[in-house]
Amino acid sequence: MVVYSPGRANLIGEHTDYNDGYILPFAIRRYIKFEIEPAKKFKIFSHQQKKGIEFEKPAKTNSWADYVIGMIVKLQEHGYKVEPFTLNIDSDLPMGAGLSSSAALEVGTGYAISQMMGYEINREELANIAHECEVEFVGVRCGIMDQYAVALSKEHHALFIDTMTREYKYVPLHLDDTKLYLINSGVKHELGSSEYNKRREECEMALEVMKKTTFRDVTIEDVEKIQDHLLKRRALHVVTENERVLKTLSALEDDNLTLVGKYLYESHYSLKDNYEVSCEEIDFLIEKLREYSNVLGARIVGAGFGGSIIVLARGNFEGIFERVAESYKIKFGITPTLLNVETSEGVHRV
Ligand code: ADP
Ligand code: MG
Repeated sequence: MVVYSPGRANLIGEHTDYNDGYILPFAIRRYIKFEIEPAKKFKIFSHQQKKGIEFEKPAKTNSWADYVIGMIVKLQEHGYKVEPFTLNIDSDLPMGAGLSSSAALEVGTGYAISQMMGYEINREELANIAHECEVEFVGVRCGIMDQYAVALSKEHHALFIDTMTREYKYVPLHLDDTKLYLINSGVKHELGSSEYNKRREECEMALEVMKKTTFRDVTIEDVEKIQDHLLKRRALHVVTENERVLKTLSALEDDNLTLVGKYLYESHYSLKDNYEVSCEEIDFLIEKLREYSNVLGARIVGAGFGGSIIVLARGNFEGIFERVAESYKIKFGITPTLLNVETSEGVHRV
């Protein structure tokens, strides 16, 4: 049996998914492909890692295989028996590029197992189990965005999620004469995961200072009263980013893509200046793109410190990209790559 599990991008709503905020992700047509078959013992192979692993009892390995093994463990904890299988993994979704290959791996594994075992696990439950796998088994304190996007997305739609209630709705993406693109900067800075955890702590500290238990109850006025400049800027990002998600929803409804683009730029500068999760390479790409009026907006996607940017543009964007890529290469010695974004349905069988 064959299962395809997509990567995701996020139109807007960055670093809000662990702050009870709003997000607007969608799945993209880049997939991890799983071939699964019942077997006498567990045998997992990844073409990207050029490595396999065999075992009878699932246990932590501190390697890429933990995303798969963790799903076996978590499904069992949730009362689903998992019989041994061979699992063959192949992928055209870049790893560590901010496109959520980790969640694609978790959700795809969970879905493949459920299909093999004949379980009807609903997609929210699958997303929640995969999220538990990443947080509790792999040990990355991520929000719910990636697993929800991979499990629940629908073609031609973005997924609006209220991460506080985990309620969601589908938002049609009418892009008219514009298109979305992803540019992979080709860099991933090591400090990413420690800074990520630091941001989470800073947000918790900001809440404490404001005497609030959730960002949902925080207003701009509350933020203005914070004395500590750093905590104030972190909180300012979260509150304004949530507003931008809601404003983007209305702009999409009104087919006002110029406005959507403006919010993307605003989101980027808030992530850069207030949340401080951008980096030199990414900022260079954004500033170059701003020189072109056909580029309506762009911003960093994912946790930050490298990875990819999302771009909303009209006309011949490939031509613009070539020029931007050329100057990027001269400055940093790295060739960035362009991905023409098409939306995809979430994890599925073929
Ligand atoms: P992102 O989710 O943004 O791609 P992460 O650092 O969260 O970045 O996850 C990347 C990790 O997921 C890789 O380092 C690897 O351990 C695992 N992974 C992703 N895709 C594959 C694959 N095709 N085969 C094996 N492991 C993979
Ligand atoms: Mg990830």
